[in-house]
Amino acid sequence: MKILIVEDEQKTADYLHRGLTEQDCAVDLANNGIDGRHMAIEYDYDVIVLDVMLPGLDGFAVLKSLRAVKSTPVIMLTARDRVEDRIKGLQDGADDYLVKPFSFLELLARLQALTRRGRVQESTQLHIGDLHIDLLARKAFRDGNRIDLTAKEFALLAVLARRQGEILSKTAIAELVWDINFDSNTNVVEVAIKRLRAKIDGPFKYSLLHTIRGMGYVLEVRNAEVNQ
Ligand code: CA
Repeated sequence: MKILIVEDEQKTADYLHRGLTEQDCAVDLANNGIDGRHMAIEYDYDVIVLDVMLPGLDGFAVLKSLRAVKSTPVIMLTARDRVEDRIKGLQDGADDYLVKPFSFLELLARLQALTRRGRVQESTQLHIGDLHIDLLARKAFRDGNRIDLTAKEFALLAVLARRQGEILSKTAIAELVWDINFDSNTNVVEVAIKRLRAKIDGPFKYSLLHTIRGMGYVLEVRNAEVNQ
């Protein structure tokens, strides 16, 4: 999947670039509206992630120029308190929008929904033992039972599940689930892990979510436990 990100905040742009590259996407970056418009029109992308507040030309102006010549799918990034921006974006031909700050997985799910193709699509159904996760429908089941999760709990589970068998540090989890401006001195990750564990492991025969002391957390099937 070939993606253009038009975003002037370096930190957000780097974060998206890294995350999408890890998903085997080819990512181009533009850090202002003028370059963004040029690239969006000149080159062919599967999808464009377009920030509203940009130097040079704002996202609406970029979208307007683009829509005059092309129908490339566009997701706009809007500020939390700017409801009118979301409406304007959709009216001007944006296909979707995300409110900042957003989780990477949410963006990924929206990109998948918009493109419905590409290599990212391959891993939307995840299985870890008897745990089944549908990333697009945002549902989790264990041993056939639907597990009721909050949006954050689902995001946390999805982050762990996509990297099953890999130990994820608290910092990595915080960055992936709680966006980039997370203060790692808080215990928000521990609290969320505890809640998630109670739901996905609590009522079931064996545990899938393990704490690795001093390192982080891992979601995996451990044979010794399965055989009990
Ligand atoms: Ca901006």
